[in-house]
Amino acid sequence: MKMRDSKIPDGPLADKWNNYKAKAKLVNPANRKKLTIIVVGTGLAGSSCAASLAEQGYNIQSFCFQDSPRRAHSVAAQGGVNAVKNYKNDGDSVYRMFYDTIKGGDFRSREANVYRLAECSASLIDQSVAQGVPFAREYGGYLNNRSFGGVQVSRTFYARGQTGQQLLLGAYQSLLRQVNTGKVTMHTRHEMLELVLVDGKAKGIIARNLETGAIERHAADAVVLATGGYGKVYYLSTLAMGCNSSAIWRAHKKGAYMAGVSWIQFHPTCLPQHGENQSKLTLMSESLRNDGRIWVPKKAGDNRTPNTIPEEERDYYLERRYPAFGNLAPRDISSRAAKERIDSGHGAGPMKNAVYLDFSDAIAVQGKKNIEAKYSNLFAMYEKINGIDAYKEPMLISPAAHFTMGGLWVDYELMTTIPGLFALGEANFADHGANRLGANSLLQACVDGYFIAPYTIPNYLSGELNAARISTDHPAFAEAEKTVRDQLNRFLQSKGNLSTDYFHKTIGRLLYEKCGLSRSKQNLEEAIVAIKALKASFEKDLLITGDDKLNSELEKAGRVADYIELAELMCYDALQREESCGAHFREEYQSNEGEAVRNDADYCYVSAWEWKGESNPPELHKEPLVFESVELAVRSYK
Ligand SMILES: Cc1cc2nc3c(=O)[nH]c(=O)nc-3n(C[C@H](O)[C@H](O)[C@H](O)COP(=O)(O)OP(=O)(O)OC[C@H]3O[C@@H](n4cnc5c(N)ncnc54)[C@H](O)[C@@H]3O)c2cc1C
Repeated sequence: MKMRDSKIPDGPLADKWNNYKAKAKLVNPANRKKLTIIVVGTGLAGSSCAASLAEQGYNIQSFCFQDSPRRAHSVAAQGGVNAVKNYKNDGDSVYRMFYDTIKGGDFRSREANVYRLAECSASLIDQSVAQGVPFAREYGGYLNNRSFGGVQVSRTFYARGQTGQQLLLGAYQSLLRQVNTGKVTMHTRHEMLELVLVDGKAKGIIARNLETGAIERHAADAVVLATGGYGKVYYLSTLAMGCNSSAIWRAHKKGAYMAGVSWIQFHPTCLPQHGENQSKLTLMSESLRNDGRIWVPKKAGDNRTPNTIPEEERDYYLERRYPAFGNLAPRDISSRAAKERIDSGHGAGPMKNAVYLDFSDAIAVQGKKNIEAKYSNLFAMYEKINGIDAYKEPMLISPAAHFTMGGLWVDYELMTTIPGLFALGEANFADHGANRLGANSLLQACVDGYFIAPYTIPNYLSGELNAARISTDHPAFAEAEKTVRDQLNRFLQSKGNLSTDYFHKTIGRLLYEKCGLSRSKQNLEEAIVAIKALKASFEKDLLITGDDKLNSELEKAGRVADYIELAELMCYDALQREESCGAHFREEYQSNEGEAVRNDADYCYVSAWEWKGESNPPELHKEPLVFESVELAVRSYK
């Protein structure tokens, strides 16, 4: 296959989305009820998309693996959501947000998509407020906002440390309203395990009922994957155990390209690993960096407690290296700077794998009450986990795998390379380039679902009206179901002695070491060899207990099998990109000061990968990135 057209509309940047909307085809209201759309995922992207399309009159089949749509992982987001409202009158504008995001992504995202994200951001705040989302307010009643990394204005709206949860409650109630009207059929505790194609178009899915083990066929006129990110491939990450890559990976194996797969964000503000038996790392919101100062002891191997280390013996390394942005330097830069300090022996904490986040100056200047008002739930969470009162002693923080900028390749309409298959939210690669700015992801998930898909999916469906409705008796469903059953049977019959967790931890550790915060040619080549060996071992050494009914080990086996293949693709992606950009730091391409060195002449493209079968390497396709409105510049936060 060739690289697909990204379908960017003509016209000046600021007019593209309006031009698209003006020309997008519509489906007559009477015809909408004849059409069915499957939406996999009930996070912000999935719920908002399902509710919006149901409101238009389409029949929606909605799926999630949790027991309630509102337990989708969007619920975990704490810090905030960005929007250009310029309430602070501090110089914000759509163009500035567009520019910050393009620059933050290290000039590796599409101009048109990013501009649309900034353009739609203000409407999201209006939409959410109308739904009753309790954003923080100032004394006078105006919505409050704060700054996140990589920007110099205040455009992050927040609801204490529960922004994702509150936004999701808004989307969830819109979804449930449509469940009540009968336009949405909800399938909780269902996991999509295969995509069904008829004549090359997405026409359904095979899902497993996680409570009974029943394998079900579901047909539709279009399929939306809003299945979240794949950061859990690293095992230790800020994501919950259930998060997985299976839906997008199985779509990839059916022909959907994966893009920017190795662009993984490590969040600098997480709790450090404290032992071998944990399954998750806890995120402390980035908002803390508005007031906390980050430092390590100047002396390597310093074992003193933080409060006994005098001011002149502390290295505020972000303020030192990046005076313009200081503690609000973007995530990739802050994470790498922390790793550099930790690796060179300045790490703090029992495992020497952390840096300090210190609020003593902020408390002295603003008073404890003001700090409590902003962050009390985060301080309480920190104390609950660590037994340390962070009002009195600095927090210990460390970088952790967090967000996947990569995902299914989509065009401007959010359609993948498979006609009729759309990818929304973190599941697609679209807007963040090689590094996502904090608080842009809740925004992207919501904008994709509330504002973009409701135009682009009808535009596609208008061409499907005269096509025959496909039933689940079609041979393509039988074939897809057989693939699923064969794989489950293989897992159940495997008589090895190693658990799914063993394989998940092994692939996670390997990736962290060889394709994590920094990468090199040698490490990536070694990783590809090691992953192939791990895959062979998984085939013969896996042990799954239990049967094909309710069986969480069996569920995990499929997810881990997909992670192993995905990990290999991540290494291929990182290997071919012989430059450092955003979160992708190739050790061979850095300045004398240790800063990333981009190569615009050779790598100003999105890498889009095609699956070529089990025993063949993936094929790389390149979508050139054309910049008409910004000049490519060295990304400096100094
Ligand atoms: C701890 C944490 C804090 C964060 N804080 C912020 C923040 O402050 N601001 C910000 O902008 N971003 C933040 N993010 C990122 C942001 O929360 C996510 O990128 C965003 O919520 C993703 O939304 P989504 O709808 O794409 O996916 P999700 O909310 O992850 O939803 C995925 C859905 O897909 C379903 N699913 C997945 N696979 C299958 C399958 N095979 N079959 C059936 N269903 C499936 C799940 O059940 C779920 O319903 C944070 C992320 C984390 C982990």
